[in-house]
Amino acid sequence: MAYDDVGAKRGRRLKVVVNPHGGTKKAVGIFNKTIEPILRAAECSLDVIQTTRRGHAYDIAKTLTLSDYDAIVVVSGDGLIHEILNGLANHEHPIKALSIPLAPIPTGTGNGLSLNLLGFEDGFDVCAAALNVVKGLPMKIDLLSVVQNGKRTISFMSQAMGLMADADIGTEHLRWMGEARFTYGLLRGLLRFKPCPIQLSYKAFETDKDKMYESLQKRKTNPSSTTPTTDAESTQLPELKYVSNDDDWTVVEEPLLYVLAGKGPYIGRDYMSFPVSVPDDGLMDIVLQTMAVSRGQIITNIGGAAKGEVYWHPSIRYVKAHAYRVKPLSKNGALAVDGEIFPFEEFQVETHPKLGNLLSL
Ligand code: ADP
Ligand code: MG
Repeated sequence: MAYDDVGAKRGRRLKVVVNPHGGTKKAVGIFNKTIEPILRAAECSLDVIQTTRRGHAYDIAKTLTLSDYDAIVVVSGDGLIHEILNGLANHEHPIKALSIPLAPIPTGTGNGLSLNLLGFEDGFDVCAAALNVVKGLPMKIDLLSVVQNGKRTISFMSQAMGLMADADIGTEHLRWMGEARFTYGLLRGLLRFKPCPIQLSYKAFETDKDKMYESLQKRKTNPSSTTPTTDAESTQLPELKYVSNDDDWTVVEEPLLYVLAGKGPYIGRDYMSFPVSVPDDGLMDIVLQTMAVSRGQIITNIGGAAKGEVYWHPSIRYVKAHAYRVKPLSKNGALAVDGEIFPFEEFQVETHPKLGNLLSL
């Protein structure tokens, strides 16, 4: 059976990975009390494992017996999704492994994937997420390769630098605060108000906000997608395409308070960073917050980020790109990939159309 046929299947066979450490550490209780009864009632067969350490979910995914499962249920936040996707990408059969659909149950601090699948109202509703596990249909999504020091990492959601990265990864020790730690981190970063020390260049597809917005509206009324799928015949991860340094790269000269790149629209509960993001257009969205803005305006912008209004602010530049690269100009900086800490060193990112698979209602 191909994973795209999962939609027609009753009694799904599920690998369930629970992170007891995610969010405010309530995942195990939520799974036992709320999620498991729903899945059992729907006659799903469950193979449940709790992660015991960082990297455990990566190992589970890397060595998964693919033919035993119809989907992988991830009871945690975006960090565990990131680990599992990377485990699958390093599986003996990476293309087949990445075609197993994932379904998140939002019990982490950052549950961007769940928000993108279930929407703003239901994004944090674990029952809605359980229903998605039972009834959701497979949906192909683009994945990104982040290449740093020759090492390739799969990212499904975001790369953050500057203010936004400092907010997320400078506050791991404040995990007990739940989401308040992002707010705290943001305010701390705002007090400093320093540009992020990077040189950014990108290979643009579109930079006109109106055009991007219009094309999204058209897509909503006519959702047929024409993006080519990553080579269906291939059994190995797609080769990197944007390794050469040709003339089509745009170098950003302006200082930037923060940069967010990836797929969305959401990257966190109150943050729709990529309002015109399309899950399978084969492109990544890049948000560049210039320094031509006051602290107060940043707070207003962030307040207006829940529904994506921040997109229209003139101090925000927005690019749809095939690829981008970053060269740090100082040692003191932060890079977060899908909310996880990465070395602040040179890297390049490109998109792979429809390489991943999710369950979606
Ligand atoms: P949150 O959104 O709360 O950060 P994540 O899903 O991102 O939740 O997971 C946070 C981190 O927890 C991940 O980096 C993962 O590797 C790590 N992790 C997984 N299992 C454990 C464990 N048993 N103990 C400590 N950390 C763990
Ligand atoms: Mg996390």
